Amino acid sequence: MSAAYRLAEHGHQVSLFEAKRSLGGRAGSWREPSTGAWLDHCQHVSMGCCTNLADFLDRAGLRDLFHRFEVMHFIDRHGRQSDFGCIPWLPAPLHLAKALVGMRFLHWSDRLQLAWTFHRLARTSPQMGDNRLTILDWLRKYRTSDALINQFWQPVLVSALSERLDRIAFSAARKVLVDGFMGARKAFFLEVPQVPLGELYDEHMRGALLRLGVSVQTNTRVKQVCCEGIACASIELNSGVIDRFDQVIVAVPWRQAASLLSPELRASLNSNATGPQVEDWERLESGSIAAVHLWFDRPIMQLPHAVLLEQRSQWIFARGLQPVPHAIGDSKYYYQVVISAAHDDEDGRSMELADCVVGELRAIFPEAKSAQLAYVQVVAQPHAVFSPTAGSDAWRPPQATAVGSVTLAGDWTRTGWPATMEGAVISGYRAAECILAQSGVRTKLEVESLPREWLARWLIRDCH
Ligand SMILES: Cc1cc2nc3c(=O)[nH]c(=O)nc-3n(C[C@H](O)[C@H](O)[C@H](O)COP(=O)(O)OP(=O)(O)OC[C@H]3O[C@@H](n4cnc5c(N)ncnc54)[C@H](O)[C@@H]3O)c2cc1C
Repeated sequence: MSAAYRLAEHGHQVSLFEAKRSLGGRAGSWREPSTGAWLDHCQHVSMGCCTNLADFLDRAGLRDLFHRFEVMHFIDRHGRQSDFGCIPWLPAPLHLAKALVGMRFLHWSDRLQLAWTFHRLARTSPQMGDNRLTILDWLRKYRTSDALINQFWQPVLVSALSERLDRIAFSAARKVLVDGFMGARKAFFLEVPQVPLGELYDEHMRGALLRLGVSVQTNTRVKQVCCEGIACASIELNSGVIDRFDQVIVAVPWRQAASLLSPELRASLNSNATGPQVEDWERLESGSIAAVHLWFDRPIMQLPHAVLLEQRSQWIFARGLQPVPHAIGDSKYYYQVVISAAHDDEDGRSMELADCVVGELRAIFPEAKSAQLAYVQVVAQPHAVFSPTAGSDAWRPPQATAVGSVTLAGDWTRTGWPATMEGAVISGYRAAECILAQSGVRTKLEVESLPREWLARWLIRDCH
């Protein structure tokens, strides 16, 4: 969508083919058949550091559909709340001093250790060690306490990267902590969509694309992409129709991209590849995420969202009064609980997971004890994101390929970002830049990251 938008802005005629009925991909919703309401597969959030997503939403006039929260709330298993906010007049990363003091669930010695670990992280180059170094190896090297690992590093990194600490690459974890918390004051602010993702992307973004003249064809699966020389590529649809274009952007997830390419195209991409071979793309592993959707007869917490510590439930988001599925005319208080790096078999054990989550909520929130659960639904996605395992960056291809008429996009292509909407938008902007360059327009579409504040510039060491 981001590539289509930017190319259409530059006067290109663009057709977008989407296999599903609605736009949004993994950041999408489904329509609940009985009430017709959009239900997100899973809550999505952005952060202040996601400058390209913000730019894309701004261009399409959709930024106001996100609400900014400047405080994150942590709740420990005894129900005690700690607020993670900042001191706005202190330069980054000193602005986090308030957050550090406010983390009541951590012992004082752990809070001091956390400040020191942040400092070490900033002073360590992202290329440190070989590419097999995991964040857990690194934390252990600095004798990080188990309490700090379980109560801070685990919840923050697992929910950001959907992987266990013993598998997350050091560089991916450092990216989240340095860019997401340390570089600029507003970097960690949460941006939460106030409408379902289906309304955001399938209705409003589709409208913005159509207004720019993009031909949007949903429910249209591409079967194969073929290369027809340097200046032409074709796609074959599942219906058998074949369409020719000057340029094709393959913007499907890592597990599907290789299988869409004709044998000739695959061979051409491999012959002069500047990145991994096509076969290597599938070496990226998947991270799973499960969302438990709950409708209670009354509000169970006063906060808009919270991080739940040392529980199977990791984040909870309150979504207000919403229609209950299969109960026309009935609205109840809707919550989503998100579990990243969920067990692979979560799908087959959804009721057990739902029971566990409800039990945890009742133990933490006094209001939940007496609340009646009207409806529950579990959506487990085993291939939610690519896993940022140590060494995985080697399997992420750049957007430009050896074949001039074929470009890649998608969160899994090489962007420096983990699997996020921000990474997906960056990849789309870069794919559009490649295509514009081929038509003689050299322009930078990708937006700079948030500028580092003076103290952060001095403290953070980016290269050797
Ligand atoms: C459960 C979950 C929670 C997440 N939470 C967050 C979050 O809080 N914040 C965040 O920033 N990111 C989050 N993400 C990640 C985010 O959703 C993705 O990084 C982003 O949507 C990737 O966009 P994409 O365009 O690269 O790929 P996709 O969204 O996967 O889009 C690819 C599209 O290609 C279509 N397609 C596939 N094959 C074909 C074909 N043959 N023909 C036509 N179309 C095809 C698919 O239907 C899909 O719509 C989450 C993801 C999941 C699954």
